[in-house]
Amino acid sequence: MESEEVSLSTSDLEQLNEKVRRLELKLASLQAMVKKIDADAYGLCEACGSEIDIETLSSNPETIFCGQHAPQEGQSPEEPGSNPLSA
Ligand SMILES: [Zn+2]
Repeated sequence: MESEEVSLSTSDLEQLNEKVRRLELKLASLQAMVKKIDADAYGLCEACGSEIDIETLSSNPETIFCGQHAPQEGQSPEEPGSNPLSA
């Protein structure tokens, strides 16, 4: 008799690996955060050392940059479709 265990396809495994990778990255950033809290450096910008806005910290507790040095994610200056390289 065949056992009824679930067999995972290769793409399932790839998706799981991707999830694991993302969780590992998340874990690494959380560990870095804990280290900073231990070192009393939590909430200070990695780039300039000034205090990070409390609103920024509460919306993104893992942030390590102040408003001036944070990478602008989700706010791409270039509009989609206007690729300067293809001009
Ligand atoms: Zn800064």
